[in-house]
Amino acid sequence: MQYVTILGATGSVGVSTLDVLARHPEQYSVYALSAHSKVAELAAQCQQFRPQRAVVGSAEAALELTRLLREQGLATEVDYGVDALCAIASAPQVGAVMAAIVGAAGLAPTLAAARAGKKVLLANKEALVMSGQLFMDAVHDNGAVLLPIDSEHNAIFQCLPHSYGRSPAASGVAKILLTASGGPFLTRAVESLDAVTPEQACKHPTWSMGRKISVDSATMMNKGLEVIEAHWLFGASAEQIEVVIHPQSVIHSMVSYVDGSVLAQLGNPDMRTPIAHALAYPQRIVSGVPQLDLAQIATLQFERPDFHRFPCLALAFDALRAGGTAPALLNAANEVAVQAFLDLQIGFRQIDRVIAHVIETVPHGAASSIEAVIEQDRVARMAAHAYIGDRLAA
Ligand code: NAD
Ligand code: MG
Repeated sequence: MQYVTILGATGSVGVSTLDVLARHPEQYSVYALSAHSKVAELAAQCQQFRPQRAVVGSAEAALELTRLLREQGLATEVDYGVDALCAIASAPQVGAVMAAIVGAAGLAPTLAAARAGKKVLLANKEALVMSGQLFMDAVHDNGAVLLPIDSEHNAIFQCLPHSYGRSPAASGVAKILLTASGGPFLTRAVESLDAVTPEQACKHPTWSMGRKISVDSATMMNKGLEVIEAHWLFGASAEQIEVVIHPQSVIHSMVSYVDGSVLAQLGNPDMRTPIAHALAYPQRIVSGVPQLDLAQIATLQFERPDFHRFPCLALAFDALRAGGTAPALLNAANEVAVQAFLDLQIGFRQIDRVIAHVIETVPHGAASSIEAVIEQDRVARMAAHAYIGDRLAA
């Protein structure tokens, strides 16, 4: 029996993870679940999966959850806050940790899982983008196993040799071909993007996801973060990673080898496939995802990304090349800008301007410690809020 902690259980990835786990009760048991504020949803999950522990975001939410659980006759231990998240991510009983909190808030517990030598199932790409080498060192130094959940990185992992040692050249890898759907605004007139609403931005053509990553997909910052994620996971330079627009989201990414071979992983766009793959790795388990019907799909299309339409993608490549804490600045500014867009404070086409402003004005340095990264995150958020405030006042 493997005990699993799910950080961010009430989110899109968290719910898909529980769906896969429910299909294999003889193999997996839920040790702990976390949610930020969706207390009723978390209580229902506790009722079904009977975890030993549950963690929420505040003391009030913890009181409310305790009340709901006791009503149901459940003895689940309830706690709140970041230390409690780190505790459920590193408890000795836990085998695997699904890191599915969205944004920088997931860094501390995901890092705690790595430092405790767990099998870390990484959905929370922002944590890796921020901390890069420091996170990879924590994985390596503590014997943790890092398995990518992001569908593209899971696909690349599946297309690389088992012996892959984070060196493309040593394995004959010429390029990593990172596919992108292009999101809901792939063909819409660029000028008309000023007027798009959060609802339009969150209406992804092929994937159903949380609101932050949905907006990131619309700006293609999601792909930019994924380029940085691929750099750290697979040891590939910016030049060795190519973004390919593929609107059908059937090929989840590819690896191009020096002999001219290109290996791809295909599947329906459903996160339960990478989740099941990583959970059971190196075995295979049923995920609930229907088998791919290629004749029904019939057509697969590819094109190059347009950096003018998607300036966020260019900003992310620049941050990767700049190195140090530049990706942490990029990520923090993006989180603030996306939230401001969702809150109707700025327009869609101002998201990239906020990020560019923060990168231009906040000096970045070496990512020498997690504390230094967290400090850069804090300063970048302040600069982003100030810029948005100034614009609103103007
Ligand atoms: P979501 O918004 O649906 O869920 C986020 C989860 O994080 C929720 O359970 C929420 O309670 C929790 N959370 C939010 N803020 C928190 C905070 N401050 N402290 C603690 N917990 C907090 O997001 P999602 O779509 O499931 O995405 C989760 C992560 O997985 C993101 O990093 C995203 O980039 C990545 N990811 C998602 C998908 C997808 O299909 N949804 C695909 C690939 C990668
Ligand atoms: Mg992805």
